[in-house]
Amino acid sequence: MKLKNKRVLVYGLGQSGRAAIKLLKQLDANVSFFDDNVKFFDYIGFERQPKQKWDLVVISPGIKCRSNQLLQWLEEQHVPVISEIDLAYLCCRGKIIAITGTNGKTTVSMLAHRILKMAGKETFLCGNVGLPFSAICQKTTKNSITVCEVSNFQLETSRYFRPNVAAILNVKPDHLDRHGSFAEYLRVKCKITQNMHRSDTLVLNLDDDVTKKLDIHKRTKYFSKTSLKHGTSVWRNQIYYGRKKMISVGDIPLRGEKNLENVLAAVAVTAPFGVEAENAYAAIKNFVLAGHRMEKVGTLFGVTFIDDSKATNVASTVACLQAFAGEDIWLLMGGQGKEIDFDDLFKIGFDIKRVICFGQEAEKISKSAQKFAYNTAVFAKMQEAVEFCMKNAQEDDFVILSPACASFDEFDGYAARGEAFKKIVLGQVE
Ligand code: ADP
Repeated sequence: MKLKNKRVLVYGLGQSGRAAIKLLKQLDANVSFFDDNVKFFDYIGFERQPKQKWDLVVISPGIKCRSNQLLQWLEEQHVPVISEIDLAYLCCRGKIIAITGTNGKTTVSMLAHRILKMAGKETFLCGNVGLPFSAICQKTTKNSITVCEVSNFQLETSRYFRPNVAAILNVKPDHLDRHGSFAEYLRVKCKITQNMHRSDTLVLNLDDDVTKKLDIHKRTKYFSKTSLKHGTSVWRNQIYYGRKKMISVGDIPLRGEKNLENVLAAVAVTAPFGVEAENAYAAIKNFVLAGHRMEKVGTLFGVTFIDDSKATNVASTVACLQAFAGEDIWLLMGGQGKEIDFDDLFKIGFDIKRVICFGQEAEKISKSAQKFAYNTAVFAKMQEAVEFCMKNAQEDDFVILSPACASFDEFDGYAARGEAFKKIVLGQVE
């Protein structure tokens, strides 16, 4: 991509924005940057030269687009605005597999990358999981396969990004505070196909109520936990890609039916690249989920503590409760809301001993749980809620932190919340 001496503004200085700046400098662009949250402008920033005519603006996923005055001004000035994944895409060689969906993106991206590695492919893992796409795009080659985890925030402003294979794993209510409505959230997810060619492949989940109905791309393949003639599916406890047997369900070391879906998705996106059954088996057999996803912290006095802090919406907490069905559960829920309806969880009728609510959404969650006759307790802070569980849970009970909310009312992110939970449980808090 030729950007030499072009005046480019990077809007948003998160991890992706900073990687974009580095990449633009390598491309000899004349880079400036701006962030709503940075109050000191030692940089040649937008604020100093508001009327500057930019040749291009690269926007980071953290920037909220709805009613954004700077973006409105840029539009009026006819300045092209692209997303960070657009910039990286325009500098990327080889093939791209893009993974999006409400939940399971990180798990599927990691699995797909691992399967490709086991198959001896030159492969990169980027996007929401680990390194930004802009940080690795210059390393790609014509033979490489880049697995890119793509969030809605990336897709919102994307114009050029074109994956060769894209998967939409599931679509459930999330980020409604940012997108305004479920319809808008879904519209943005579907943008993943906007530049795909007829020969590119879209992979959809046939077991998800929303994705099974999508009709947005000509060449669409499905995965399902039931048997399918074409696509990736399960028959007699074996996972098949078309007629090719790939791996036995019993060899998957992960709990819960949603993780079976994740494995099916990973097989579906990688199999077209000439992956053999033994590669899939080698990659999946010893796979460990990333931290804060149904992660066992330990068993203390017979009580098992699970950190599922990454469950930041109702659907992911449902996935966790399905995975631990049959256990005596104390469910820790709460944090910052995203305008999601908690009734969707409680109306399912999971067996939960007690729902322990904390943070900004505590009252709302408790009211919803009580409507469905659950026993609840409400606390202002997570620490009090966890300590309450530690005092009251009995032998063989499971205390599960699966909040169904964002963490920003109390923490810097889901990882900080999970780490705090671990520290409280392990008695490392003063
Ligand atoms: P993402 O990157 O989309 O947030 P992760 O793989 O990091 O997805 O998992 C996030 C949370 O969602 C975890 O709590 C996990 O237990 C749950 N989860 C994982 N896969 C799925 C799925 N396919 N459907 C619903 N929930 C899932």
